[in-house]
Amino acid sequence: MEFPPVENGVDYLLSVVDHLAGDGPPSPRDLKYAVLHLQAAAEVLLKARLQREHWSLVFKDPGTATRSRFDSADFESCTTDAAVDRLKHIAGIPIDDKAGKALKVLAKSRNALQHYGLTAPARAVEARAAEVLDFLLTFLHDHLLPHLTEQENQRINADLNDVREGVQEIQSFIAQRGKHLRGELHDLGYQTVECPSCGEWALPLGDTQTPNCRFCHESWASPTIAAAYYVRAQYGDQETLLAGQCPQCAEPALLLDKARVAAEPTQPRSLCFHCGSSFDRLVECTGCAALTMPRQSGLCEDCLQDPIRPFELKGRRP
Ligand SMILES: [Zn+2]
Ligand SMILES: [Zn+2]
Ligand SMILES: [Zn+2]
Repeated sequence: MEFPPVENGVDYLLSVVDHLAGDGPPSPRDLKYAVLHLQAAAEVLLKARLQREHWSLVFKDPGTATRSRFDSADFESCTTDAAVDRLKHIAGIPIDDKAGKALKVLAKSRNALQHYGLTAPARAVEARAAEVLDFLLTFLHDHLLPHLTEQENQRINADLNDVREGVQEIQSFIAQRGKHLRGELHDLGYQTVECPSCGEWALPLGDTQTPNCRFCHESWASPTIAAAYYVRAQYGDQETLLAGQCPQCAEPALLLDKARVAAEPTQPRSLCFHCGSSFDRLVECTGCAALTMPRQSGLCEDCLQDPIRPFELKGRRP
């Protein structure tokens, strides 16, 4: 082959780093080429490893693969998503969920970019891109470089060093802003979630009716719209919104058992996107069926204060 895939992939990575590194937010044009070339790098590098497993695996449908079509590059190849699946399940290469998710978001950004132009805020794209860059560098190192000849390694070495330096620069910049933010959001730990747009723990809820991310400055028109985006980013497109009425503010903006907050990132809780109250466990009131904190009486605060209330409510039911 004239231009081997790994060399090709490293060349794309170098372009990505060139577009993203440097002071200040990247320009729209820089972002555009960073996303396009990052997606190209991911595709080339993942498929280079897949091809080592077996050449038929880069076909969209490996069942129809023939060697002659492979050799003449006359075939439809698999998507990045499929490549990730096959690397995990056929080649046995561990790709963690975070990296898998970042790759999916990247593929979506690339498609959106081609149809509508880039709509996500610059900082969000940059943060996601840094995750993918980091993953691809490790992937290269662990799964591709060991299989190259000395000569091939030498040919990409200088470029690869430039990529590493660039990625470090981008990451340290993001880490620096992260540190600053953690100070700013310190007291809001139980009402701050991962931003659906950039993936940073930088979206505090309850302080405004147009929630906005302190890291990438993406904002949403209402708490329930932010909740819908949050669920989709965390659990995928198929997930439906499990919203309930908040025991604190009574708005129907409670995300039931599905929110993770910065103060307790591993334990899903219920969180109101309207007032920012979060609850580790809620039960149905035995009087009126509203969600409430667990109490010995089984009743919510309203029913406790007014014991006639449940009967009135029942009497009014058709
Ligand atoms: Zn954000
Ligand atoms: Zn609330
Ligand atoms: Zn009640």
